[in-house]
Amino acid sequence: MTSAPPERSARAMLGSVFGFPGFRPGQAEAVQRLLEGRSVLAVFPTGAGKSLCYQLPALCLSGVTVVISPLIALMKDQIDFLTAKGVAAARYDSTLDADQARSVLDGLRGGRLKLLYISPERLANERFLQHLRSVKISLLAVDEAHCISEWGHNFRPDYLKIADLVRDLGIPRVLALTATADPATAQDIARAFAIAPEDVVRTGFHRPNLELRATAVTPGSRRRTLLDRLASRPRGPAIVYVTLQKTAETVAEYLNRNGFQARAYHAGMENEDRDAVQDAFMASKDMIVVATIAFGMGVDKADIRAVYHYNLPKCVESYAQEIGRAGRDGAPAVCELLVCRQDTVTLENFVLGDTPDEGSIAAVLDEILGGEAQQDISTYDLSNRHDIRPLVVRTLLTYLELAGVLRSVGHVYSSYLVEPLKPSAEFLPLFDPQRQDFLRRVLARLVKRRKYFVIDVDEAAQALEEPRERIVSALDYLHAQGHVTLKTSGVKQRFRVLAPDRDSSALAAELARRFNQRETRDVERVGRMLALAATSGCLTRELAGHFGEEMGDCGHCGPCLGDAPAHPAPLGVRRPKTQALERVAALIGERLPQLGTPRRMAKFLCGISSPATSRLKGHEAFGLFERVPFTMVLELARREMER
Ligand code: ADP
Ligand code: MG
Repeated sequence: MTSAPPERSARAMLGSVFGFPGFRPGQAEAVQRLLEGRSVLAVFPTGAGKSLCYQLPALCLSGVTVVISPLIALMKDQIDFLTAKGVAAARYDSTLDADQARSVLDGLRGGRLKLLYISPERLANERFLQHLRSVKISLLAVDEAHCISEWGHNFRPDYLKIADLVRDLGIPRVLALTATADPATAQDIARAFAIAPEDVVRTGFHRPNLELRATAVTPGSRRRTLLDRLASRPRGPAIVYVTLQKTAETVAEYLNRNGFQARAYHAGMENEDRDAVQDAFMASKDMIVVATIAFGMGVDKADIRAVYHYNLPKCVESYAQEIGRAGRDGAPAVCELLVCRQDTVTLENFVLGDTPDEGSIAAVLDEILGGEAQQDISTYDLSNRHDIRPLVVRTLLTYLELAGVLRSVGHVYSSYLVEPLKPSAEFLPLFDPQRQDFLRRVLARLVKRRKYFVIDVDEAAQALEEPRERIVSALDYLHAQGHVTLKTSGVKQRFRVLAPDRDSSALAAELARRFNQRETRDVERVGRMLALAATSGCLTRELAGHFGEEMGDCGHCGPCLGDAPAHPAPLGVRRPKTQALERVAALIGERLPQLGTPRRMAKFLCGISSPATSRLKGHEAFGLFERVPFTMVLELARREMER
């Protein structure tokens, strides 16, 4: 490295390494402060060039820059980009095989690596943290940093642990990155990483080429409205966002019937089909993708001419992110929101479905606190046993970690999928008799399942009275030799119980309160989205204001152009009819164990699925009150069950 001051060498490297003629707005400020040793929060819209704000300092500073990013696909793109520029960058994740993983760790320990990308889950691995402890980390970059905010719209439990890690590893500076942070979320991030107010770098969020519109619709009129809009505007690549997978299917089909080239995209589709839709869209000049929020993260198409919201987004942050995909090329694009009051019921029900019963929380705590000092916990099993959604179980476990009750040690795989590539008679004779005998016993534990065989390693370890490590390494060896293919499955997280004597009922009450608070905030977010959509003021200005940016009226959104405010028709909730009440009474009379509390009963009646009731989905009363607000149904369930 030259002895030029780091700021100067940074500017030089911008051209010589990255080939960019100059900094984009915000980049120079962020880079300079980092080089001065300060921690920074950068709030730039998507596509503005946030990554450069750590890539460039990474090259100027001695030591390694660790980047935490939740999306493996985006990590891969970044690493390809850096490698092409001659920068030593790698990722460390579960998709690497043993050789690749070793070579990354060697590069890290040898000080050759300048950037290491990891996913937040990696931080649960004690062994990996040991590796990090042994090297000099000059900078930690945290992408999608809004995920750290517990009250934010996209909280991820793993993120809560990052701040502790920074202290634990003595990392001198942090760069937190996000495209969407309202002032409260930005404050949460800044507090977590001790970022000074003057080190929050925000660039303009307003995009003058986007024409924002909102139109009130009813469930009956919205398809037609969408079609009218598509027909009246010039054709071009467009995204139509919907809430439910089945809506994506039906709307895509409807558009196709009416002369548009439209395809559905949602998480319920096979990966191949999704990739095919995305590829076709990237190449097309007029295709419409009707998608759930599963679509968009990796979609970097500059000429998207319209983004329609067929359903109300779940919060203003999601709305901002989704319309941000339009008009990246700077040419005009339209973003139109169809506003229907009915949508708030669906959105709120999603929120409510996430809140666990206090009883379920207590049961989880009893199980963990009453268990062994070290436990391998499967989120999936806990989720099913205690009727808490899997993501919520993870949040719960993280809360317990932060409360000092548990410590995560790492992951173990409870089972492996094995596909023999040749008959065992061909490879067994290659081993000495003792090994042969052992392998034979291991292979005998394989259970046929379609194309693969599956082996439960813990069960096998018990049955064979062998350490599980020996079984795992035998499988690894057969794989390395090309005799079988091997895939891990059924991941469990290994925890140590640090405080087995904690008062579990007090803890359960506190956690329940925390989850209820989250619920309240998420419901409020839906309300704020609806209020924004129905505003009579400048839509662009109101949106910018939500993110703490002040501006005058834009002059080119719906309200500015004279559209009537999108006041959706009221819900028109009717009290349940006697007939429906009789069906509820009959359901209560069935005394289904899965529906033992009013809350569970209410979720079921509203059609909110939960792990415990997933097998009852065919029941005639499931979703009986799909269109009735949850709070009303909960009240009814309480009344009827307490009779
Ligand atoms: P973000 O993370 O903010 O969404 P990225 O970091 O992925 O954005 O950058 C978006 C694109 O902008 C990338 O293709 C990147 O190479 C490019 N880019 C970043 N900084 C500059 C710059 N100073 N000049 C030109 N292009 C840049
Ligand atoms: Mg990015």
